[in-house]
Amino acid sequence: MEKLAILGGEKAIKEEDKELFAPPVSKEMEEKVLEVLREWKMSKIDLTLEFEKKFAEWHGMKYALACNNGTAAIHCALFGLKIGKGDEIICPSVTYWASCIPVFSLGGTVVFADIDPETLNINPDDIEKRITERTKAIMVVHYCGYPADMDRILNIASKYNLKVIEDASHAHGCLYKGKLCGTFGDVSCFSFMSGKSFGIGEGGILLTNDREVYERAIIFGHYERHSQSITIDYLKRGIGVPWGGYKYRMHQMSSAVGLVRLKTFKEEIEEIDKAMNYFCDLIEKLPGIKPHRPPKGSGCTKGGWYNPIALYSPEELGGLSITRFCEALNAEGVRVFPGVNKALHLHPLFSEIDVYNDGKPTRIRYSPEDIRKKDTGLTVSESIQERVFNIPWFKKYKPDKIREYAYAFEKVVKNYKELLPGDKGNPKDFGAWGLTFRI
Ligand SMILES: *Cc1c(COP(=O)(O)O)cnc(C)c1O
Repeated sequence: MEKLAILGGEKAIKEEDKELFAPPVSKEMEEKVLEVLREWKMSKIDLTLEFEKKFAEWHGMKYALACNNGTAAIHCALFGLKIGKGDEIICPSVTYWASCIPVFSLGGTVVFADIDPETLNINPDDIEKRITERTKAIMVVHYCGYPADMDRILNIASKYNLKVIEDASHAHGCLYKGKLCGTFGDVSCFSFMSGKSFGIGEGGILLTNDREVYERAIIFGHYERHSQSITIDYLKRGIGVPWGGYKYRMHQMSSAVGLVRLKTFKEEIEEIDKAMNYFCDLIEKLPGIKPHRPPKGSGCTKGGWYNPIALYSPEELGGLSITRFCEALNAEGVRVFPGVNKALHLHPLFSEIDVYNDGKPTRIRYSPEDIRKKDTGLTVSESIQERVFNIPWFKKYKPDKIREYAYAFEKVVKNYKELLPGDKGNPKDFGAWGLTFRI
């Protein structure tokens, strides 16, 4: 085997094929966006309504409400479910902050649950331990597109009479046992931010079959639709201004991109799935690396494979740090980084910050007990950072090219002993509050 590039050898990836990672821009998309611009329809909602209809149809859901981003969709969903003062939601500690911070402005709070070390999804065994009489909902994140264990989560939810919110921001087109993610919860939310697998600009959407949740979401942040969409009496009284004081309308250039992209997305993810599985099959044979994907034949899929990752076991490679491992891959021409989202409970916002000047940290301002003390047993969330790295996100199935990448991995793994002498170990601070800087 050739000499490692980091030690002066030749790169495994001689030339990057840009098409492998290219964004899905088409002529039709450009035209549709230009149409919005030329007709100056950025703040209208005609295309957005059309987009919502198609997105809801795709998921077989009754109602869809598009928002200016996924964070807003989550905010609306929480209000839709009547999460309020003193209410608790249970959320995995390893996720993007938007899965839980919007609950603060409603007077609610968050109790963190640990994740499973293989799926990186909320651990159902840990959910049950954290339920109190104040628990109202479980926030489920299909982390990096790996469908969460919905059977068990829905069981727990019905046993304790809790709502389920799916944060499907990583999971466009993912199947859980053959059924689309985002169709299991009382409400589900997606982000359409450019880095997501169904990226369309900035945008987000909420899906539900519950008319009241839908109308509450509209009353909260979509005043422009009140007169045409609000039918429930107690909401009707207050139409005309948004109850939350928020304005969450989606920009129609995003709707335009979304409408065009929806037409081809199924084909897109088929190709991505084929390319990623081909690559994962190749690297899975190597010691130290285990791609993050559901077992074959489980009926679960990773859809558009948002931020694909693999688990790393340094003990199988003589203790080689993930930092050194990733450096060696970068030298070969493969852009990879260690870590995923940091464990949220470690951020001072969740331990000490008094956002609204209540004289108390916001997380416990309406809590009869100090729920911060429950941030124990989150051991997987705290340690997973050093055991995960992202792998290339192939958008095209080009076996010859993909094999070059797999060869780079093989080269680094097989020569791991040569990397040990220069290994300075991992930095203390790992992972990131947001992952998008690297996409
Ligand atoms: C991206 C993301 C969001 C928020 O979406 P934005 O559109 O960026 O506001 C929410 N949850 C998760 C898990 C995300 O990754």
